[in-house]
Amino acid sequence: MKDYYNGKERSKNKAEKNGMWKGDSVGYFSLHKWVAKRIQKPDICPCCNINKPHDITNKGVYDRNLDNWEWLCRKCHMTKDGRMDNLIKIEPFGLTNNCIECGKVFKVTKSRLDKGTGKYCSIACYIKDRFYNKKGIV
Ligand SMILES: [Zn+2]
Ligand SMILES: [Zn+2]
Repeated sequence: MKDYYNGKERSKNKAEKNGMWKGDSVGYFSLHKWVAKRIQKPDICPCCNINKPHDITNKGVYDRNLDNWEWLCRKCHMTKDGRMDNLIKIEPFGLTNNCIECGKVFKVTKSRLDKGTGKYCSIACYIKDRFYNKKGIV
C-alpha cells in the first residue's frame, strides 16, 4: 500500500515538471503554481513598496492571463482580498422603508426593494402578509 502511494506521488510530480497541461480545467493551486513560475517575483511588494512579496495574487479573474495576477506581500494580499469580499458580500443599507405589514421603519438595501421583499421589515412580516392576509394563496 505504501509503495503504491509513493509511486503515485512520484509520477504526479514528474508530470508537473514536464509541464504537462490539462487544458483550462486546471485546479486553483496548479494555476497559482503555473502563474508563479511565469511572473518574476519582484524584490519588493508593488503595492506598499515596503514588504517582500509573498503570494501570487489574482485580481479577480482566475485565468492564465498574466495581467490578472500580481505578487503581493502578506499584508497587501489580505487587505485586497478583504476589500474584494466586502464588495461582493456587503451592500450598504442605503434606504429606509415602512414595513407594509407592521408599519415599522427599517433599513433596506436597494436589491431587496428591487426584488420586492424590501416592502417587509422581516421574513415574518412577509409571510404574514402573503399568507394570512390571503394575498399569496387562497
Ligand atoms: Zn505590500
Ligand atoms: Zn414588519
